[in-house]
Amino acid sequence: MNKEKLKKIKEDSLITLLELHMTAHSGHIGSSLSCLDILIYLYFQRMSEEDKFILSKGHAAASLYTVLNKYGKISDEQLKTYYQDGTFLAAHPPCGDDKVDGVIFGTGSLGHGLSLAAGLALSTKFSKKNFKVYCVISDGDCNEGSTWEAIMFAAHHKLNNLVVIIDNNGLQGFGRSDEVIKMMPFKEKIQAFGFDVVEAKNGNDFADLDKAFAEIDKNGSDKPKCIVARTTKGSGVSYMEDKLEWHYLPMDDDQYQTAIKEVRSNNA
Ligand SMILES: [Mg+2]
Repeated sequence: MNKEKLKKIKEDSLITLLELHMTAHSGHIGSSLSCLDILIYLYFQRMSEEDKFILSKGHAAASLYTVLNKYGKISDEQLKTYYQDGTFLAAHPPCGDDKVDGVIFGTGSLGHGLSLAAGLALSTKFSKKNFKVYCVISDGDCNEGSTWEAIMFAAHHKLNNLVVIIDNNGLQGFGRSDEVIKMMPFKEKIQAFGFDVVEAKNGNDFADLDKAFAEIDKNGSDKPKCIVARTTKGSGVSYMEDKLEWHYLPMDDDQYQTAIKEVRSNNA
């Protein structure tokens, strides 16, 4: 897909995502904005129809629903039900792929998504199917021991059909990730656990994501793959960027209008 089309998808997705959060009066907008570019990149530049995707940081569900809407899996009508009583488009992705096309597992209790992805990648190998499994995890996910168990499991089973992307925005629910539990350096640690690891300098920039994926593709090893993507919480809305409070806050009317104006002027 050419750069202009991708840029337009990003602008449309930003507007949709802000609308969703505003209408629902829901929080986690900063977390949704942090990984939006990665999700757009995966769906529109990277994954085939057969590939599977798991959003381990399920609290950014609105970002996933938005991209699935642009991708044609969630209708505009269904998207309007986000956060409403009785909807399947809840604050976290729902359990079971019969509920929302493209959502395989219920996620959001941190530390579970990568285990699910590794199990799916292994079963894919058993069944000799050809698809890849992509999993986006947060830096907060990496506080969880189960994430590191999944990393060991994936390396042990040589799951080179598994691609993990860390949405490394340096913030999590309770503060700066470095202050909650210091986990750096991700690259060296995950390499030591048996993965091929590449860093994306700016995970909110499609060109940098392109470079990182090109680099990971160069290595045809039997190791699972990981991209450590440096991202910004709240990316695309300057007053939200790198601010912890936007993990939680819903927008008021003025904040919503300011955000929409900024997105439109940035993309004019
Ligand atoms: Mg984070």
